[in-house]
Amino acid sequence: FTRISIERRRFFALAITDELTGLYNIRHFKNLLSTECLMAKAYSDQNLCILMIDIDNFKQFNDTYGHQTGDFVLEQVAKVLKISVRTSDVVARYGGEEMIAMLRGSSLESGLKVAETIRENIEHHPIRSKDTICKVTVSIGAAVFFSDDDEESVIKKADEGLYKAKHAGKNRVETVEQLNF
Ligand code: GH3
Ligand code: MG
Ligand code: MG
Repeated sequence: FTRISIERRRFFALAITDELTGLYNIRHFKNLLSTECLMAKAYSDQNLCILMIDIDNFKQFNDTYGHQTGDFVLEQVAKVLKISVRTSDVVARYGGEEMIAMLRGSSLESGLKVAETIRENIEHHPIRSKDTICKVTVSIGAAVFFSDDDEESVIKKADEGLYKAKHAGKNRVETVEQLNF
């Protein structure tokens, strides 16, 4: 019985994890987010912030250093991301070179601060691969959950923030939300 339960746990861990980065996969992230959105709807004082994180000029990076180094960079960025947030926060690989974070109990104001910390940590984290030091930056879009949002709409807003950050020159944090602070 014990062996079966250990195997089951192992299968579950595999099913929710992104193989390359070790972060959660997007399917599991969306499951957790939908529960969190229901909570935020039920308790209006519960804040919830979403960050969409995308590596800048990653295609060029792959073209210059090769896919293996690209994969290594993805792993390293995921690591820095993970240590830049609280243990109660959830980070996942959205797909490709995009990652997403759910900051539980976080207002837009504190979410923007966390995003800025992530951005700085990645900018200042030298990624060494073979004999090259790779300069990696990310752009981040931040959004906050409102009572008329659902999991798709809050992700969409974070994505719009990301789009804004890319257009404003990359390596920055942006939001399409109103700033009242
Ligand atoms: P931008 O700053 O606008 O985000 O430019 P970008 O080059 O990062 O974005 P684009 O969408 O043009 O390219 C994304 C690249 O990410 C293309 C693809 O080869 C690379 N990529 C996606 N997934 C992986 C992966 O798992 N490993 C590696 N090495 N590269 C990946
Ligand atoms: Mg992308
Ligand atoms: Mg990119």
